[in-house]
Amino acid sequence: MQAPRFTATPSFYNDLRRRVNQYFTEVNSTPTGNWQLYSKAIFLIVAHVAIYVTLVFFTPVWWISLPLCAILGLLTAGIGFNIMHDGGHGSFSKSKALNRAAAFSLNILGGSDFMWNIKHNVIHHSFTNVDGVDDDIDVNPFLRMCRTQTYRWFHRFQHVYFVILYAVMYLFWMFFLDYKKYFRGYIGVVEITHMKPVQHIIFWGSKFFSYFLFLILPILVVGFVPTLIGFGVFVTVTGFVISIIFQLAHTVEHTDFPIPAEDGKIENEWAIHQVQTTANFATRNKLVTWFCGGLNFQIEHHLFPKVSHIHYPAISRIVREACQEYGIQYIEFPRVTSAVASHYRLLRNLGRA
Ligand SMILES: [Zn+2]
Repeated sequence: MQAPRFTATPSFYNDLRRRVNQYFTEVNSTPTGNWQLYSKAIFLIVAHVAIYVTLVFFTPVWWISLPLCAILGLLTAGIGFNIMHDGGHGSFSKSKALNRAAAFSLNILGGSDFMWNIKHNVIHHSFTNVDGVDDDIDVNPFLRMCRTQTYRWFHRFQHVYFVILYAVMYLFWMFFLDYKKYFRGYIGVVEITHMKPVQHIIFWGSKFFSYFLFLILPILVVGFVPTLIGFGVFVTVTGFVISIIFQLAHTVEHTDFPIPAEDGKIENEWAIHQVQTTANFATRNKLVTWFCGGLNFQIEHHLFPKVSHIHYPAISRIVREACQEYGIQYIEFPRVTSAVASHYRLLRNLGRA
């Protein structure tokens, strides 16, 4: 299968972009991060380091340590959503170096910013929900995320066991998924061709560093069994939170899973494709918006990935209005629970032959 391409002229997007640019001129602001984002970033990093140091060097009793491990997992997801994700898109700051540093936080936390850049920026943001291309909906054979994916008998239970898969996702990411991409040389249908020697060194160096940080050092200081239990709680919370937040944005009822023509053509404009394959959730919930780094404003994020998430509540009004004018459905769930229920129903429906 070749990488798809969009054939329609981007008239909706040109108009929308003009309106959003006009907004930034009117409020005299840049699309990158601001003090609100930087204070949040500092809070997340300081809290993460403080809890890590407390757990490893001042290990409290188990009934305090275990909740702290869970909070460490939440903070890891929070750093991913708010710092790494914006940095990876170049929207964290005007400074390229700061964006690189923000994106690099993923390497310290166990992932690979190089692989993430191709998987997320190149593939997922271009070909959202296109089966066979978008790696985010490829959980084969464990989950059937859309109609075009092969049905297997155990999918009838997928609306139950997805919880376990999401919980082990970060463990898999740390120890398997990046290596699979690295050794295959492909992410989906996209070939990884431009990995320089320094990127190989960073890949292996940061993998080792994250294992040292989260496993080897705690084992040396705290001991094997307590580390294994704590690490288990930490990766379970991180994995579940990251998986569910990303899935709520695309694999819910009403989002589209377009199928390209034989020659790879998608008869749509890229921006309309983005709106039709994406959903927002809980956009009025300030805590969810703060924690998710604007991933609950996923429509705005997919239309303007180079705009920092801190601006999404403001520009969502413009996007909503434009969608209404152009007759494009703007999918939104009022609460996290309604989006989770919709994701559950989608999995249950796809689990029927
Ligand atoms: Zn993104």
